[in-house]
Amino acid sequence: QAYVSVQNVHKTYATRNGEVHAVQHADFDVAEGDFLSLVGPSGCGKSTLVSMVGGLENPSAGCILVGGEPVTAPRRDFGYVFQDATLLPWKSVLDNVLFPIRTQKRPVAEYRGEAERLLRATGLWDFRDKRPSELSGGMRQRVAICRGLINDPRLLMMDEPFSALDAITRDDMNLMLAQLWDQVHKTALFITHSIREAVYLSDRVLVMNARPSRIVADIRVPFARPRR
Ligand code: ADP
Ligand code: ADP
Repeated sequence: QAYVSVQNVHKTYATRNGEVHAVQHADFDVAEGDFLSLVGPSGCGKSTLVSMVGGLENPSAGCILVGGEPVTAPRRDFGYVFQDATLLPWKSVLDNVLFPIRTQKRPVAEYRGEAERLLRATGLWDFRDKRPSELSGGMRQRVAICRGLINDPRLLMMDEPFSALDAITRDDMNLMLAQLWDQVHKTALFITHSIREAVYLSDRVLVMNARPSRIVADIRVPFARPRR
């Protein structure tokens, strides 16, 4: 049954050059536990659509429910990972991972065990006291993924988390994420330009078209790696 429900959602931006129809007729459900990828050319509305599910932007029309509740703003049961890890440079890896707990004014001590578990699962535990500038790009994205998962979200949004990485690092990251998902198996919305990456990681792939923005295919990956 539907955990995420996107109901005939549109998003229109008013710009100096007129209206941009960034997302049109988006209408789909996501079952709890599914890893869903969105692929499509630049500008087809992937970021806008996932931002709306995550409450970072509001639809111009239509409605989005997650867990039966309308999404109107970012939520504590959501996690976010962006293309640029956006880590705090003066804080350690461990403190970056725990940062959402501090901003949400939750008791940090109660989350240290979870931070350790995530950092071990992603091979970062030995780097917990390093600053982001001392890490490679792939390691910084792993920190961002740990930070996105620290509050045990029910839904994790990942917007092109590996797009800035070289091909070999990217393959490593795919393997890491697949292995991590064997442990955490959360509902995920994952944006990528790579069909290969989408098929490797996902239970389901939505393919989008640009101009006009449309979901043109909705594929359940038949040979999804066995998980859980
Ligand atoms: P991609 O997802 O293809 O890597 P982006 O999502 O960053 O790239 O941007 C896609 C397109 O959206 C670009 O053409 C960019 O100029 C445009 N864009 C993104 N954000 C804004 C904005 N705030 N105002 C106007 N255009 C934007
Ligand atoms: P994608 O992630 O698939 O590359 P986006 O969702 O970033 O696509 O963008 C979809 C369309 O909306 C593009 O034409 C982009 O230029 C436009 N767009 C995105 N954000 C803004 C914004 N803040 N203001 C104006 N136009 C935007």
